[in-house]
Amino acid sequence: MRRRLIAGNWKMNGSAASARALLQRLAEFADDSKDVVVFPPMPYLSLAIDGNASSRVGTGAQNCAAYEQGAYTGEVSASMIADLGARHVLVGHSERRALFAENDATVLAKVQQALAAKLTVYVCVGETLAQRRQDQQQTVVAEQLQALIAELPASAWSSIVVAYEPVWAIGTGETATPEQAQAMHAFIRSQLQQVSPDVAEQTRILYGGSVKAANAAELFSQPDIDGGLVGGASLDAEEFLAICHS
Ligand code: PEP
Repeated sequence: MRRRLIAGNWKMNGSAASARALLQRLAEFADDSKDVVVFPPMPYLSLAIDGNASSRVGTGAQNCAAYEQGAYTGEVSASMIADLGARHVLVGHSERRALFAENDATVLAKVQQALAAKLTVYVCVGETLAQRRQDQQQTVVAEQLQALIAELPASAWSSIVVAYEPVWAIGTGETATPEQAQAMHAFIRSQLQQVSPDVAEQTRILYGGSVKAANAAELFSQPDIDGGLVGGASLDAEEFLAICHS
């Protein structure tokens, strides 16, 4: 039985004051049948870890370095994130892939660093609009998953969450239909059969792309959608809580 998981990616938004206010409101979340995690900007990570210490909400970083340590000015290692007390990290978000030239090899290296630091890694995959128009979405997502499937031991998958985020639905207000999302989630699960039937059955797969309170319940009711990775709507406490309660 996979537990429902709702993750909020704050991206590069807000201030210390707005982060505190948001966390204070989210601390009221009391449903222990679901997991909720927020990904604040790196400078607010400590603040969020302290703010979430007595709440049911977990804290994660939006990125980590592909290297363990050393002369990598401006980078933050997975072990530093874990050292602060965070337990989760996002890797391979489409904005990182598109704006910061991350490829599948970089994503794999970051996942390996995160796993070595005992973080739960949320690996984002998804196709662009052009790729979907050419009906290439399954090929693209299979390729993004393949490096991980080929290189990681089966035991690693208990610390991995897959987030399917069609790039055309991120921050655009356009959402994949529940049927489109379900079809891709079922496809991702079928790819994970290459690791093992247990991994395919137990890995949580989140949908991301303009999730809001108005569409969350229908998306989350699909059999292979285990929750959501929420961007814009996670900055509004009432909206995010409504999604968490969906
Ligand atoms: C995201 O950035 O992961 C995301 C899904 O954004 P939004 O919900 O704003 O589309």
